[in-house]
Amino acid sequence: LPIQKIAVVGSGSWGTALARIAALNAAEKKGFDHEVRMWVREREIPGQGLLTEVINSTHMNHRYLPDVPLPHNLVAVPELANVVKDATLIVLVVPHQFLTPVLEELSKPGVLAPGARAISAIKGVEVAGDQIYTFPWLIEQKLGIPCSALGGANIAMEVAQSEFCETTIGVPSKDDAALWHAVFDSPMFRVHPIEDVSGVSLSGALKNVVALAAGFVDGMGYGGNTKAAILRIGLLEMAAFTKEFFPSSSSLTFSHHSAGVADLITTSFGGRNRKCAEAFIKTGKTFAQLEHELLKGQKLQGVATAEETYHFLHARGRTEGYPLFTKVYKISFEGMDPKSLFDDL
Ligand code: NAD
Ligand code: 13P
Repeated sequence: LPIQKIAVVGSGSWGTALARIAALNAAEKKGFDHEVRMWVREREIPGQGLLTEVINSTHMNHRYLPDVPLPHNLVAVPELANVVKDATLIVLVVPHQFLTPVLEELSKPGVLAPGARAISAIKGVEVAGDQIYTFPWLIEQKLGIPCSALGGANIAMEVAQSEFCETTIGVPSKDDAALWHAVFDSPMFRVHPIEDVSGVSLSGALKNVVALAAGFVDGMGYGGNTKAAILRIGLLEMAAFTKEFFPSSSSLTFSHHSAGVADLITTSFGGRNRKCAEAFIKTGKTFAQLEHELLKGQKLQGVATAEETYHFLHARGRTEGYPLFTKVYKISFEGMDPKSLFDDL
């Protein structure tokens, strides 16, 4: 078999945590090029020099994954074309609002190696009027290469500290399953491949909308019973939405896999969407302000997903079928009283 070369496009908290695991595996397992490259948006760190040089000399990403030592075969690279040069396995893990220019660059002739494959660890959806697209689908269309989806109960810092957890990989073929399993599976990060790319991708996007509702519950001062009720109703809306608009997906992805129920639980207790949604209720500040104040450069994904999902459902005349998603949008964007969250659920 040809030697596989891994490239990671994205170096936020999840990008760096996934790159760390891939580099540890590439160094240990047969069949991989030792060096794993990670795309870093170059900038000057006052008093320290260029960010890529700081990461490559300290072997840490101080801003997005502080205090986590990175393997020395993980190399930060500023030019995207150089990151993916000769790469056969490309991990796409930028916050979803920044993917378009990345795909434009990667789709230029000669940038990707022949036979390359991708995986998206991005949580979000793309909506245009009454159409909705998953990111793996968009990546396949734009780059003309197969794209899998990775999603699970994976708060980046916990994964980076090697706390035991699981993830799900939705794959288009058995070859993709074997390759991506080898890239990421390790004793403390167990990878389960399933043949449901859109289910894994959608679950990762939609659970962020439900996690905002969980944060609203916390912000209003309610307890575990209320949050559990919101999560149960939210999980049903996630599964119903996927069944209605992506009928080839499996409902088991939501009920049985880390990408479904487990990701919803961890995000609704320990995630950034939950945290900002709680503060939204308590402070009355906008989500843009709270992202800036609370996340130190990390990015919220659920608010844009709530907006996109609402506009899609509205365009299809289906908002009434999804009362929780609809209320999360109206509380976030239209000043609806948060207590209305519970009406007619
Ligand atoms: P992050 O939230 O830490 O965001 C920081 C990243 O965004 C940095 O790489 C930064 O360079 C980049 N960035 C900021 N402004 C930019 C711009 N204008 N153009 C391009 N890039 C810019 O990122 P993350 O946590 O790695 O999230 C990436 C994806 O992974 C998201 O879709 C997220 O939902 C998903 N995810 C995150 C976690 C987690 O715990 N952090 C877990 C699972 C999945
Ligand atoms: P947040 O973006 O809400 O932190 O969720 C992280 C995540 O997706 C965990 O799997």
